[in-house]
Amino acid sequence: MSSEKFILAGVMGHPVAHSRSPVIHNHWIAQYKLKGSYVLLPVEPTHLYDALKGLKALGFAGCNVTIPHKVEAMKAMDWVHPVAKQMGAINTIVVQSDGALHGFNNDGYGYIQSIKDAKADWKANAGPITVLGAGGAARAIVLSLINEGATEIRLLNRTKSKAEELAEEFGPKVQVVDWNERINALSGVAMLINTTSQGMHGQSELELNLSELPLTALVSDAIYIPLETKLLAQAKMRGNATVNGLGMLLNQARPAFQAWFGVLPEITPELQTVIAGTF
Ligand code: NAP
Repeated sequence: MSSEKFILAGVMGHPVAHSRSPVIHNHWIAQYKLKGSYVLLPVEPTHLYDALKGLKALGFAGCNVTIPHKVEAMKAMDWVHPVAKQMGAINTIVVQSDGALHGFNNDGYGYIQSIKDAKADWKANAGPITVLGAGGAARAIVLSLINEGATEIRLLNRTKSKAEELAEEFGPKVQVVDWNERINALSGVAMLINTTSQGMHGQSELELNLSELPLTALVSDAIYIPLETKLLAQAKMRGNATVNGLGMLLNQARPAFQAWFGVLPEITPELQTVIAGTF
């Protein structure tokens, strides 16, 4: 890609001011000496379709979409990647040279990569995996775990019907467990994953008794604000290995940056320091 061209990308959400994506992408733009900018795009749900259809006219190479647009944005796409279709949501849009909008979902890739970065010998089939939550993050993570070879996923969600819907779509490897059974659901697992918004800044804490969780289990939280949720602090205290949600955010950004700016960027210690400084 020509270094002369000024490339624009951004993140569309509502609210979106909290997003760390501009910090990540603008760091890479500077690091790779590219001409461009990654901006916040606060767009209300009623304007989503028009805003997406306007990307080409505004000269955008594409954008990320975040809460609450990940599902609705699919309707404005000319093409959606099969994995994103299965997930039922997109988080990345790439404007094609003819103006067509292509939708992708890199959240699952980002999640799996963050676990591999933290634990090089991690295997999805090392034992049962308990997943809390059945929202957008859960859909991306559960499907990616299955594609990675997971054999037994115990899925618990406050609203059980949403977990049941997800299990029906993703097949028998996903077993729905009642939310009230969440202590017993930790017994014998190789991994525990929180994909609910509980524990996130501004939300109530996830109250979970970890007494049944094996000390060998890896505990991960999709949340990255704060970097250490109460769940992760609790797990670390009793000796479990933990992974926070920042690696997922950083890793999902890499293929998006490559699609827009033409360079597959690295997650360097400098970037980690820059990001850590924003918390
Ligand atoms: P979402 O689609 O709105 O789903 C929210 C989930 O949280 C649902 O399962 C919901 O259960 C559950 N929940 C909310 N309040 C609850 C409560 N009081 N008790 C029990 N469960 C509760 O949101 P999402 O997009 O999946 O995001 C979930 C979290 O993942 C957020 O904190 C987000 O920041 C994080 N995330 C991180 C990344 C990353 O890159 N690290 C990417 C995506 C998301 P119900 O179905 O019962 O409402």
